[in-house]
Amino acid sequence: MTESKQLAKSSLRGTLRERVDMRKHTSWRAGGVAERVYQPADLDDLLVFLHNLPAEEPLYVVGLGSNLLVRDGGLRGTVLLLHSALSEMRIEIDGSVYAEAGVPGAKLARFAALHDLSGAAFFAGIPGTLGGMLAMNAGCYGSETWQKVLRVMTVSRQGEVHVRTPEDYEIGYRHIALREKGEGGREKGGATPEGFTLSPSLLSLPQEEFFVAAWLTFARGDGATARQEIKALLSKRIASQPLHLPNAGSVFRNPPGDYAARLIEQSGLKGKQIGGARVSEKHANFIVNAGDASAADIEQLINEVQAEVRQNTGICLHPEVRIVGEKKP
Ligand SMILES: Cc1cc2nc3c(=O)[nH]c(=O)nc-3n(C[C@H](O)[C@H](O)[C@H](O)COP(=O)(O)OP(=O)(O)OC[C@H]3O[C@@H](n4cnc5c(N)ncnc54)[C@H](O)[C@@H]3O)c2cc1C
Repeated sequence: MTESKQLAKSSLRGTLRERVDMRKHTSWRAGGVAERVYQPADLDDLLVFLHNLPAEEPLYVVGLGSNLLVRDGGLRGTVLLLHSALSEMRIEIDGSVYAEAGVPGAKLARFAALHDLSGAAFFAGIPGTLGGMLAMNAGCYGSETWQKVLRVMTVSRQGEVHVRTPEDYEIGYRHIALREKGEGGREKGGATPEGFTLSPSLLSLPQEEFFVAAWLTFARGDGATARQEIKALLSKRIASQPLHLPNAGSVFRNPPGDYAARLIEQSGLKGKQIGGARVSEKHANFIVNAGDASAADIEQLINEVQAEVRQNTGICLHPEVRIVGEKKP
């Protein structure tokens, strides 16, 4: 009996599917197939699923796939799709916002505005889920996700629930890592297949612990102003980003004191194309799927842009996007 059949026979209420095309679950609309995808019915159902999951099964958590490239050879193991699964939001008695990991940024921003809270507008510009924003410490226009976090709820691979505070994490620019107790919070580094060194949180390994909810704090404001802010922010994004074509936002992290887009443009790489993947003319740090791009096209373009910028400027850009899965043989 296959593992998925064993899972299906248990008392799960969510949806388990096999051989799922991840192009439908990533904003680049490129890449391969996931062996299994589970979309839990709610948090309790997710815990039952994890208790039933064979220990050796690789597990990946995906929100809206807006920062994710799944290689063309696909993903072995199970993808947990949290978007539209963990979607509860409420105001707590202390005035904080409790939101589950599957809530999209735009919904969170609108919910805060509805409750006359300010400082949440920036979430509207990030087309990911709260879980993905916590994992990436996503941000824009001077605000970052973890600036708003009071506590998070996480679930381990074995289905154990933890409530953690920001002090439990090392928090940085598009970076978050659980401090390892007993090692003075120090992390071990790692090398990507392309050969440059990144911190562990940027390596796309199967996950041991992930976010299921957070309590966020916002100042009191007024809803009308917050809605105006959201509108202005979205107009700014439409004007500066190639939103008419599939993309994954900024491909590279900004190096200290500079902008990846500036370095890419200065290196003459706007419009550079490999297969269906192209460096956007509108925003040089975006790679768009201009036709039928494969994940290999996109990854090769990422590597070439990185190499050419390094050659031209001496600066090594590090990808912000996560690359998972197997290359096509
Ligand atoms: C048009 C566009 C504009 C963008 N603008 C911005 C921007 O201004 N600022 C910015 O920071 N980003 C931006 N992004 C990138 C992206 O939206 C963010 O990184 C977002 O936080 C990703 O959320 P997601 O739910 O789509 O995560 P996914 O892409 O699904 O996953 C990204 C990573 O987070 C992990 N992850 C997802 N959910 C969880 C969870 N619950 N627990 C633990 N790990 C999890 C995944 O395993 C993966 O490693 C943009 C993307 C696009 C397409």
